[in-house]
Amino acid sequence: MSELRPVIGLEVHCRLKTASKLFSPCPLRPGAEANCATDPYTWGMPGTLPSVNAAAVALAVKLALALGCDVADESGWDRKHYFYPDLPKGYQITQHTRPLATGGALEVPDPEAGPWATRAVALQRLHLEEDAGKVHAGALLDYNRAGAPLVEIVTAPVIRSAAEAARVLRALRSVLVRLGVSDATMEDGSLRCDVNVSLQRRGDPAPGVRCEIKNLNSFNFIERAVTAEVERQEALIAAGVPVAPVTLRYDPVRAAVQVMRVKETELEYRWLPEPDLPPLRVDAAAAAALRADLPDMPERTRMRYCVLGLTPAEAALLVEEPALGDWFDAALTSLGPRGPALARRLCSWITVEVLARVPAAALATAKVAPAALAELVRMVEAAEVSAPAAKQILALLVEEGGVPGGIAAREGLLLEDDDAALTAAIVGVLRGHPRQVAQYRAGKAALWGFLIGRVMQALRGRADPQRVHKLLVVALQSPPPGDEAT
Ligand code: ADP
Ligand code: MG
Repeated sequence: MSELRPVIGLEVHCRLKTASKLFSPCPLRPGAEANCATDPYTWGMPGTLPSVNAAAVALAVKLALALGCDVADESGWDRKHYFYPDLPKGYQITQHTRPLATGGALEVPDPEAGPWATRAVALQRLHLEEDAGKVHAGALLDYNRAGAPLVEIVTAPVIRSAAEAARVLRALRSVLVRLGVSDATMEDGSLRCDVNVSLQRRGDPAPGVRCEIKNLNSFNFIERAVTAEVERQEALIAAGVPVAPVTLRYDPVRAAVQVMRVKETELEYRWLPEPDLPPLRVDAAAAAALRADLPDMPERTRMRYCVLGLTPAEAALLVEEPALGDWFDAALTSLGPRGPALARRLCSWITVEVLARVPAAALATAKVAPAALAELVRMVEAAEVSAPAAKQILALLVEEGGVPGGIAAREGLLLEDDDAALTAAIVGVLRGHPRQVAQYRAGKAALWGFLIGRVMQALRGRADPQRVHKLLVVALQSPPPGDEAT
């Protein structure tokens, strides 16, 4: 079986973040109460006509430019016919023959080639289309989603494994969220993925027969579904049964793929150029303005984190959740020139301590400010507060906001940093324990722990242990306490 290798291509649908639908001014509220966001056009009433939402086009063009696609000056609309209750018009308007954009590539981490390596996954096309409604169990129809603007991104069949398929989708999600063109959330259906899988014999240029798994809605399911499909095709080939081009669905409960239907042929859709819409023109000046305004792509951000010394796993975490990455960047910036030296500490404070208290999605509106966390990390580094005290301070920052210095002072959590005060405490302890001091000086080294413990106790823990350690060494080397008077 080893001479067969998987060949995978993705078709990704993502819902654009617009106020209204693609072809009508109907508000776009996909998750709201069923059918509260519909209009005569959505219902497919006779006499209604489509008119293109310019905001949706701008978002799609922005995405296409960010992915390095060639954006067509003029693209076209087509009708794809099928009957299903989720589609009142009886056809979907999409861009079949003349898509908005072609080509382009997505940079995807390639851990097999190295911890920071990436691979450009070629894209075939990117186009606009309208979404269908939702048919709930029990045949409740919800048309809130019907007519929502979707962008479909189609990769070339160049993906080589189930794990890589999931990585491609994660990388694409980061781009979508970074650009602000979509919520790109698999759970709410604003990001959905169809996966095409075939097996190719090594060294054989002829492609294998492709099967398509429809509507995967979690990163884990993609990986498991592709794995299951590869196994299914391998078993067929091993048994000498030719693979038939079928459309499948993934059953997460059984962790298996199920054949839904034999793949429809193009003819069955009765494709027709859309007669109610003129060609879609993209103004060159508008496209240039969008291009000039593109933010850094996630891959570039990942490289910046590499230079800062973060681990690939840390960088992946920040890049895959742009809200988290932005928060980290804001904290880093507030550290100024000290930032790079503290970047790793900062990252682990954010990913471990902050995320334990605030979910990434709530960071932007959380009471704890990035600059406050940065200042807290600096204080720990400068031994102004202990690490356990810093966690206490962080909990208060999360609860009430404010600055860590103020909270530390109020709560009595600042470490004593005056050497004279620390030495006074040490001398007090040494005077109070003359017998142990004498034994220590006579060579009973085990008493070191006792003495340092007493000093920390006297300071009520509010001192940097390393500093106390140094000062205690000095104090024990100087004449025994009390001697100076004689
Ligand atoms: P359809 O709508 O019929 O599925 P598309 O052109 O929209 O056709 O999608 C084609 C998808 O199938 C692309 O993602 C492409 O990468 C993928 N694909 C094409 N050939 C193969 C193949 N031999 N094995 C796996 N995937 C393939
Ligand atoms: Mg398809």
